[in-house]
Amino acid sequence: AMSEDIDLNDCVRSALVIARNNIKDKAEVTLQLGELPRMPCAPSQINQVLLNLLTNAAQAMERCGQILVKTWADDAAVFISVQDSGKGMPAEVLARIFDPFFTTKPVGQGTGLGLSISFKIIQDHGGTIRVASEPGRGTRFLIRLPRAQAPN
Ligand code: ADP
Ligand code: MG
Repeated sequence: AMSEDIDLNDCVRSALVIARNNIKDKAEVTLQLGELPRMPCAPSQINQVLLNLLTNAAQAMERCGQILVKTWADDAAVFISVQDSGKGMPAEVLARIFDPFFTTKPVGQGTGLGLSISFKIIQDHGGTIRVASEPGRGTRFLIRLPRAQAPN
């Protein structure tokens, strides 16, 4: 099946292994992974979302940056936050980042599809993805995935 009960912290770790090459010269990554309930998710899809957020974060900075990945849970949901100290986004960029093919990157470096696909994947899981950004300071993406209903 596409959906299995997974620990989203495992997704964070495996996305980091893949993103490491893009990140290593640019940023230090800090993980603050809380204890999470297992969730019915498609791990390859969640990996793809996290990989895109991490790659975007690395591409938003020159060097000596910081990337902070946090996970936590409450009674209703699991949360994953990816925060970077990169260049941030002005409002007119922020307004369009989830649009398919919207990119500010040079030809060949960005397809502009990463965040639109990520949005769709999180939506398919019943979740939300939100962003806050400040030019010159950084950007934070927050994913919220609702916990499965307890079976009656
Ligand atoms: P791509 O990475 O191919 O450009 P995305 O859909 O992943 O496409 O992102 C769209 C645009 O959103 C990027 O081109 C960039 O302008 C902006 N963006 C996304 N993440 C960040 C970030 N962490 N910091 C600054 N800008 C970002
Ligand atoms: Mg991208």
